[in-house]
Amino acid sequence: KQEQYRALREVAPVTRDGVEVTLQMNAGLLVDLPQLRESGASGVGLFRTELQFMIASRMPKFEEQCNFYRSVIKQAEGKPVTFRALDIGGDKVVPFFRGAHEENPALGWRAMRLALDRQGILRVQLRSLLRAAANQELRLMFPMVTEIDEFRTARTLVAREVNHLSRFGHDLPRKVELGVMLEVPSLMWQLDEVMTEADFVSVGSNDLFQFTMASDRGNARVSNRFDPLGRTFLRVLRQIVLAAERNATPLTLCGEMAGRPLTAMALIGVGFRSISMAPAAIGPVKSMLLALDADRLSKALLPALDNGLTGMPVRNLLLEFAEEN
Ligand code: PEP
Ligand code: MG
Repeated sequence: KQEQYRALREVAPVTRDGVEVTLQMNAGLLVDLPQLRESGASGVGLFRTELQFMIASRMPKFEEQCNFYRSVIKQAEGKPVTFRALDIGGDKVVPFFRGAHEENPALGWRAMRLALDRQGILRVQLRSLLRAAANQELRLMFPMVTEIDEFRTARTLVAREVNHLSRFGHDLPRKVELGVMLEVPSLMWQLDEVMTEADFVSVGSNDLFQFTMASDRGNARVSNRFDPLGRTFLRVLRQIVLAAERNATPLTLCGEMAGRPLTAMALIGVGFRSISMAPAAIGPVKSMLLALDADRLSKALLPALDNGLTGMPVRNLLLEFAEEN
């Protein structure tokens, strides 16, 4: 199997009926980067910058962050890297940074909430990223956005850092693309604002599923209770795809769903054309893609989503489709 997947490395990810799907990989450490070449991923769709903080014993300084991001960009050898601004708190514990005890850390002071309250930390990270990506394109997305205003504030902070750096004569990125991670359901009622204001949107399906179903992603007792391939969640994803299409906004998804052939197939079925996953998943997902008729799949899947609560469970429909094809 491994050999088979390796042989697919240079094969373009196109379905049988000619639908191109961008396959990127998730990463968080420098040791992940050689996987870009190994896996044949077209870029890093999610670079979890907090990992570097989680393994440090103190807050990484400006120089350290800057050197680190520069190495990441260099090792990507021209392939695009989408950095995610610090996502700490909840399940992502940074040893030297502890807030007060929280009853519900997943719903607590984390990610953007923390970054906007402690802007010094965010500012150092923004400055490091801007400097590291001098003369290149910088792609940066913000996690756990709950109100579009938070993204507007983040954009203002980026602009301020850009001004600061240019005032001191530093080279700047040739382009800065700012994205929203869609992982809090409140954004479902701000979809058009999100799609028009963000340069790109990336669905964090792990958190979006956890919050949509009110089901802790780390609690085995409940995490398997609800099905990401059920009608409910696929309808959520379909609405996101439609909003992105309406606004011509680049859309991707970087949660675990992207990395299993059956769930990845469902994502293509609801209309995703770009997904990002663990490097080891690229081969299996690509081999599924090459065998897929995306148009037939959508024609089978989309009516079933509208089909109320009657009819066959959507997961079974997808399994049947996968077996027949
Ligand atoms: C997600 O929530 O789906 C995601 C990609 O981010 P993380 O798993 O790091 O929270
Ligand atoms: Mg997340």
